[in-house]
Amino acid sequence: VSHHAVINPATGKTSKTYPQISENELEQVIATADKAHVGWSRNSSTDGRAALLRKVGDLHEERRAELAAMIVREMGKPVDQALGEVDYAADIYRYYADNAQEFLKDEPITLLSGEGSAFMRPRSLGVLIGVMPWNFPYYQVARFAAPNLMTGNTIILKHASQCPESSASIEQIFHDAGFPDGAYTNVYADSEQVATIIADPRVQGVSLTGSEGAGAAVAEVAGRHLKKVVLELGGSDPFILLSTDDMAAAVDAAVAGRLRNGGQACDAAKRFIVIDELYDEFTEKFTAAILACSPSDPTVPGADYGPLSSLDAADHLAEQVERAVAQGATLASTGKRSGNFYPSGVLTGVTRDNDTYHEEFFGPIAFVYRASSEDDAIALANDTPFGLSSYLFTTDSEQALRVADRIDAGMVYVNLVDAGSAELPFGGVKRSGFGRELGRYGASEFVNKKLIRIG
Ligand code: NAP
Repeated sequence: VSHHAVINPATGKTSKTYPQISENELEQVIATADKAHVGWSRNSSTDGRAALLRKVGDLHEERRAELAAMIVREMGKPVDQALGEVDYAADIYRYYADNAQEFLKDEPITLLSGEGSAFMRPRSLGVLIGVMPWNFPYYQVARFAAPNLMTGNTIILKHASQCPESSASIEQIFHDAGFPDGAYTNVYADSEQVATIIADPRVQGVSLTGSEGAGAAVAEVAGRHLKKVVLELGGSDPFILLSTDDMAAAVDAAVAGRLRNGGQACDAAKRFIVIDELYDEFTEKFTAAILACSPSDPTVPGADYGPLSSLDAADHLAEQVERAVAQGATLASTGKRSGNFYPSGVLTGVTRDNDTYHEEFFGPIAFVYRASSEDDAIALANDTPFGLSSYLFTTDSEQALRVADRIDAGMVYVNLVDAGSAELPFGGVKRSGFGRELGRYGASEFVNKKLIRIG
């Protein structure tokens, strides 16, 4: 039985299933992507590729309502956030259409000695496989596909098994935009087939966004077969509050940073670290504000958040919360779970010997910690296996830069949350993975930085 299915997390009903790809079809997909690479990278110009990519952005915009409705059904995202995600994906395609030519220019190199000249010419690598998660089905694909297609790479896309309809609709958009056969192919594959694709000599690299387990599994196969890897994994991002002249705004930012996408974002603010003198006031106001938010029907605009993405996701979060409390934490929460609709909550008193201190919580549950000083706040922020993003609130601009320098994370946002954008590099350190997506750096991962030295 194929596990690629649309199971509405709000109702538990399965509306569609999609057959898994066969071995023969898979061979065909790889062969076509490989063949397509030759024409796509050599015979098409960057102008031509940019025009097609711009069309992909335009088609996202044109189809935004139906695309958004699909992910509301597949993973329970509130419809207004789903529309926002489609628009963001469209922006990413257009950003690379407009800017990648600049990123793909020859770069002159100053010779230390000798006659002649040298330069670096960015060139494609070949066929890549992308393995993507369900939490932002369009955005995740856009930030992988857009720069790599502009570079001249071709793509096989293995999306999360719970979003087969949106993944088919993305492939349809590439087709309708006029991309050649094999430039972008969606496959309903299982993990073994993903390993087969990575191992294939015609495939040059893999990018995965998802859990640490999936990242390690894919990187292991890639390592064995000497393939380039980019990994965007989990996070337990700190939100550090050191000073403020507007507590209400800081609390609003904290709530937004935690609850976006029902708390199911790798770069959500998850651990709130508050300087001693603000701790009591912040914790009281933040707890009240977060408990005032509750899950509701994601098809109705204005939901604080929807159901968690699946029964497994809701069970996993419930198990983590129970374990946190069993090991000594205090939970403030409004109510009871109803199906996958999970009540918001705040955990305090999570000490270092509590297992959950070291875990990522993928849902509407926040941790709050008291910090005795700036140094203590930094130490708490860095005391995690992860290092994706971080949020720092302070009115002191010198302090902001001093602290930003010392946070072990791939991204530091000062006095703002949810400010990601196509031009800003995204990625982490430590167990959050390696490599970057978006911006100029997203267009330099799967690139042959070819040296040409002329005597
Ligand atoms: P997941 O289980 O790791 O799934 C992500 C993708 O990996 C899916 O397509 C999944 O396929 C596939 N996969 C799972 N195991 C695999 C294996 N052994 N070999 C090959 N592919 C495999 O992730 P999730 O739990 O659904 O997603 C949430 C996680 O993603 C969180 O930890 C979150 O922080 C992280 N995330 C990170 C970022 C970032 O940019 N850093 C962004 C979003 C999410 P199936 O669906 O078929 O199992």
